[in-house]
Parts: sequence; structure tokens; C-alpha cells
Amino acid sequence: MYKRFYNFDLSDEVLNALSEMGFEKPTPIQESAVPPAMEGLDIIGQAQTGTGKTAAFGIPIIEKGKRGKVPYAIILAPTRELAVQVAQELNKIGKNKGILSVPIYGGQSIDRQIRSLKKGVDVVVGTPGRVLDHIRRKTLNLKNIQTLVLDEADEMLNMGFIDDIETILKEIPAERQTMLFSATMPKEIIRIAAKYMNNPKKVAVDAKNMIVLKIKQVFYEVREEYKIKALTRLLDVEDPSLTLVFCHTKREVDEVAGKLQQMGYYAGAIHGDFTQSHRDEMMDKFKKGDIERGLDITDVSHVVNYSIPQNPDSYIHRIGRTGRAGKSGIAITFVTPREYRQLRLIERSAKTRIEKAKLPTRDEVRRAREQEILDEIDDIIKDENHSGYLAMVDELSSRYSQRDIAASALSLIFSDMESDEEDEVGLSDLTSAKNYVRLFMTVGKRDRVKVADIVKSIASGANIPGKKIGNIALFDKFSFVEIPHDLADKVISSVDNSVLNGRKIRVQPARAKKSVALDSVRAV
Ligand code: ADP
Ligand code: MG
Repeated sequence: MYKRFYNFDLSDEVLNALSEMGFEKPTPIQESAVPPAMEGLDIIGQAQTGTGKTAAFGIPIIEKGKRGKVPYAIILAPTRELAVQVAQELNKIGKNKGILSVPIYGGQSIDRQIRSLKKGVDVVVGTPGRVLDHIRRKTLNLKNIQTLVLDEADEMLNMGFIDDIETILKEIPAERQTMLFSATMPKEIIRIAAKYMNNPKKVAVDAKNMIVLKIKQVFYEVREEYKIKALTRLLDVEDPSLTLVFCHTKREVDEVAGKLQQMGYYAGAIHGDFTQSHRDEMMDKFKKGDIERGLDITDVSHVVNYSIPQNPDSYIHRIGRTGRAGKSGIAITFVTPREYRQLRLIERSAKTRIEKAKLPTRDEVRRAREQEILDEIDDIIKDENHSGYLAMVDELSSRYSQRDIAASALSLIFSDMESDEEDEVGLSDLTSAKNYVRLFMTVGKRDRVKVADIVKSIASGANIPGKKIGNIALFDKFSFVEIPHDLADKVISSVDNSVLNGRKIRVQPARAKKSVALDSVRAV
């Protein structure tokens, strides 16, 4: 049904590179974008995240280029993460041709970038701000640019890069090929395309034909009554940044949200039988902090179908909520024994594979926690953050073996962890989650700070009554403090960067680790 890469007019060097990368056949967006791009046409490509857009523009760029001294192609991408990913993929495709692609982004030493640009680069992959910086310093020569790509154009727009992009577009020779790739096509992007592109060919891939590459899809067979337990175990083991849970009915949403809250998870309910645009609105609200301040929609790492979607389209829409902005995502579907047929139907018509997975056992949950501790110990030793305790160890060494000492210290950590968890439960009761903002402070038990010290510093620093301050959860290196919504900004501005017990402290809205948003979107 699909073409093969060798059906495109590609050199052996590129074909071999693709096969080394494990690419067997083009994805739909590659199938429709590569041939016109090879012809040199301007392209507007629309396809969701994870559909292989990088290679869709990357293959023609590499195929048509050769190793030189001055860049012949430039790709603009919204984030450092994406710039690095795109450059990596282009370097793989261009391996046999020796074509060098280099990421250029803010946050990395500009001198280092200038040196590598001087040495000779074929393809530049940059974030707009930093690229503009190089243009102004005249350290990036754009005279030979033949192809320009705006990758993830909608994300760049969301991040406010529009002016930078227009400035850059004007700096690049007009005799060029321009390609624009985006998951969505807001008006502003259409305007840019009309202004800076030459009779562009539109290629779009609808959800039906999509192979979602960046999202790992699994299902668990779970009986209805064990779903909550299954969900919390997964949250504990997978350690998601933000999970979006889809239920079947509003009632179920409330039920699940309530139970999660009782168990100390930061969960919030979102309701309604929304259309796609309503869902965007809802996510927007969500992002603005109805549930938790400081969360970004691109942080959705896990989507859980608490109940299996009614139709394949809705499955694709739901799981497309994760794996944004270059991150990988995980889509989990709970399936009761009677729903296997529905699962197969989704797999067939969405042309996707959903692998069966096994729920973590209680032991695995414990092991996940142990691993976390081991990783932390690793960090402490590497950073030499333990030297202050060596004297204690020396003292104990005269009486006990190192093994016994270490194990006893670990038992201390674990009992500490269990009491920390109780703090978290107390902290996330319903009312407090609603009316308070949770702030993250970089001061903790280790700094010999007590709850009263924190109350005092906030009350006097921000000049607010101490009793307005909600729960305080003191951890080893940091703490969480609940502050009423309307006072949060004041507290941040007056306490951030202030000094407590001789330590400078930072204060910012907390990013809940295990935040969960629930939604009862039905078949959309
Ligand atoms: P997008 O830009 O559309 O979000 P990417 O280009 O980042 O997607 O591709 C997602 C993942 O799929 C990457 O890991 C990429 O290497 C892989 N991929 C791309 N094209 C193919 C293909 N034809 N066959 C197999 N994997 C592919
Ligand atoms: Mg991409």
C-alpha cells in the first residue's frame, strides 16, 4: 500500500542511511511531502506530532545538498530540545554524504557556536532568537541559503517568535525554497505563508492515516473495580509530569478525581462533552491554572483512557494530547475483558498497534521508589554533597560495619519518605487545592528550617497575616507552601531571593509531580 523509500529518487547514500536508522517505509506525511520538496516547490505540511515531519523536509534537504563551508539550508525550531533533535536526525540522514548539521540555540555559549560556524556548517538548525543574534553579529552567513524550513510553526508562534521569524525571513535570499510544517494552521501562520512563500503546495495528513510514532501505546486489562488501584500504581511507578485521564461520564470523572484527591494526588476534574475547539479552550484554562499553576500543556506525559474510547477518531485525538513539543508520550488504555473487540477495532481503523502491558506489582512500586533513592545517592556522591557527614560515619565505623551503617541510614530515609507522603496527603485536601496556590521554596529540613521559620519569613516579608498561609510541607531540600490565590504574586515578589537562616531562597509556583486532569470527553 505504502511506497518504499527507493521509490523516491534518492541516492544510495541516503537510502542506506535511512535503512540504518530503521526507517522501512515513508510515513504518510513523508510520502506526500518528499516528492514535491525534491522538485524544489514550497511546501506547507500539516500533520500531528510524531508523524515524521523532520525526515519529510530532512530527506530532500540532505539529498540535494553537499558538504561545503557555508550553510545551504536553515531550519527554525521553537525550542532548544527540538533544535537538537532535528539536527541529530539530519546528521543521521546525512551521515554517508558527510553533511554536517549543527544546532544553534540560546543558553549555549555563543563563542562555541561562532567557532563551529566558522569551521564550516552545511545545515543550521536554530531557535529564532539565537539565529537572529548571530545574524546581527554577522557570524552566520545566509548568502548561500537555498532552503528554509519553519518547523513546528504553531509552537513558534505560541512562544512569541513571530517578529524574530519575520526579521529572519527578510534576511534570507528570496530565491529559495521555503517549507513550513505545523500541527495546526492558525490564521497568523496562513498570513506568513501567503507573505513569504511562493505558490506553496499544501500537504496534510488526517488523523485516520496517522502513525503516531512518538507515543508509546499500551493497554492494561483491568477489571472495573480495580481501575483506581491500577491508575495510582501506574502514577507511582511511571512518575509522570502531568497525566490527562479520560473517563466515560461526568460522574465517573468526579468519582475518580475525588478518590485521587483523597489519596493525595493533585487531581482536578474537567467536564463536558466538548467539541475539538472546546477541548482546546479547556486545556487553555487548565494551563492557566484552574488546577495547578505553572503547568504547561506540553508537559502532558501520560494520557490514560480510564474507559476505552467509543470510536477510533476519539482515541487518536485523546492520545495526541501527549508527546508534544518533541517530548515522547505514553498513552495508556484500560480495557475490561469484554472490551477486547473494541480495542481491536480501534487498532485496525486507526492503523496503530496497542501493546498489552502488565500492571506493576506492589513490589515494583516499592522498587521504583528504591531506584529513586539510589539515583539520588548517586547524585549526592558525585556532587560531593556528603562530606559533612563523613565524620559521623567515621565515628560509627569504630563500632559497626560500613554495610550496617549504610543500611541503617537508608532505613532512616525510607521512614522519612513515608512521613513526607503523609504531609502530601494533608496538603492536598479539596478546599486547599482550590483556593490556594502551591509555592515551591528552595529551603528545607536540611537547612535546619522549621515550619514556624517559613511562616515568619513569609508573613513579615510579604507583610501578610501568618494565619493566611495554608499548609506547609517541609522536605529535605525544599518545601511546599500553600498561599491564597490573591496573595501569591505578592509573596513571590517579596520572598523570592530573600535570605532565610543565612541562605538565599528561591520561590516559585510549584509544578506538581503527579498532577492529573480528568476529562469526560466522549466520542468527538
Ligand atoms: P514530528 O516532527 O512529526 O513530531 P518526528 O520527525 O520527530 O515527528 O518523528 C518522530 C519519530 O519517528 C522519530 O523518532 C523519527 O526518527 C521516527 N520516524 C520518522 N520517520 C520514520 C519512518 N519513516 N519510519 C520509522 N520511524 C520514523
Ligand atoms: Mg517535529
